[in-house]
Amino acid sequence: MLAPLYQIGEKETMVVELISVGTEILLGNIVNTNAAYLAERLAGFGMSVYFQETVGDNPERLYTVLKQAKDRSDVVILSGGLGPTQDDLTKETAAKVCGKGMHEDQKAKQCLIEYFKKTKKTASEISENNWKQAIVPDGSIVLYNDNGTAPGIIIEADDGKKVVLLPGPPHELIPMFEKQVAPYLCGIEQGVLYSKVVKIDSIGESAVEMAILDLINEQSNPTVAPYAKPGEVHLRITAKAKDEEEGEKLVMPIVEELKRRFGRHIFTIEEHVTMEEALVDMMIRHHLTFATAESCTGGLLAGRLVNVAGVSECFNEGLITYANEAKMKYLGVTEETLKEFGAVSAECAKEMSEGLAKKTGADITIATTGLAGPGGGTKDKKPGLVYISCTLHGKTTVQRHQLNGNRDKVRHTAVVRALTLMRHTIIHEYE
Ligand code: ATP
Repeated sequence: MLAPLYQIGEKETMVVELISVGTEILLGNIVNTNAAYLAERLAGFGMSVYFQETVGDNPERLYTVLKQAKDRSDVVILSGGLGPTQDDLTKETAAKVCGKGMHEDQKAKQCLIEYFKKTKKTASEISENNWKQAIVPDGSIVLYNDNGTAPGIIIEADDGKKVVLLPGPPHELIPMFEKQVAPYLCGIEQGVLYSKVVKIDSIGESAVEMAILDLINEQSNPTVAPYAKPGEVHLRITAKAKDEEEGEKLVMPIVEELKRRFGRHIFTIEEHVTMEEALVDMMIRHHLTFATAESCTGGLLAGRLVNVAGVSECFNEGLITYANEAKMKYLGVTEETLKEFGAVSAECAKEMSEGLAKKTGADITIATTGLAGPGGGTKDKKPGLVYISCTLHGKTTVQRHQLNGNRDKVRHTAVVRALTLMRHTIIHEYE
């Protein structure tokens, strides 16, 4: 992937290093989603992440890793180990690396009392070790935590380096980063970093990159950086500007150019809108109802659509018709079709979505049937073969996909392809 190098005149980009603290991450008991989240957001701001480390709850090893990170990077962000227990030693270690003493922060203590009040605990019911969370390094900026007990901390070391400490639980870390840390980091440099994301479906990352090579090669301000997601590519356009208004003026012409290049493949330019949200929004706008019939995706497609708040406006029913008998019984797939072409066939998929439309009366119906693997393949039908059929007001489109990966990946990719087919079918008829 092309590195989104951010240059302001001759000035190099800010270098941020990430350290995830926690033995459970080291042991693989939890997936390190914090590092993925932070790295992506920082890249979006045009900052460079050259190193990420994971270290267990061990103060000596943490000291070594943090010291090295602070020596070579402008900002070090640590997550985890801020809680009340004995093994939570991130704060103490960071203070030591930065040569700072510690003191009790009265506002942090008050926040703890307020937090416990909300959970109906009085000061005497709070176990003693909790108060440790109000002890902060001298001279640090305290990031009060609206969603938990451990405050975050920003230590501004005497050599100008910054060490940022964030709580481990993602539901605490994400709002703290968004509300307090991101504005702080962006504010270190003069002006604002303004960014927009253009989300593209059904075109691979390398094809997207080829189509915008001129924009990437020309870039200085704003920059354009691609990120691949399963079945999607996101392009982040970031500008350094004196204020939001100037940022928008720099970024929007590139967004317009990308709209010209990728057209209907762009499903949103909104930061937090997902593919299923864009689709549900489109169905609600056009007053369309939908229904699902799933074989190889076994409910994943309906599950993803039900993630969207408000989907009840357009979704009444979804079926999992896994066995041939179920396809015949609930969808009217014929025995002849199953005998002649098999359940994993364009013919079966078509009968599934058309049968579903007849049964439910939904405006748009979608059906999946495929070989998720790893077994079950034949000479003509390899694992990963998936047919998806979409019927909109009596008109049916069937797609054949040969997908890569294990069972899980095949099923999830099939869902993305199905969402994409539904969206494109609606665009074709309505937009
Ligand atoms: P707490 O106040 O809960 O003790 P903490 O800052 O001490 O917060 P940890 O004890 O290190 O955080 O982790 C608490 C929980 O947060 C973990 O059990 C895990 O569920 C989640 N968590 C921690 N680090 C990560 C990470 N890097 N990625 C995803 N989840 C994480």
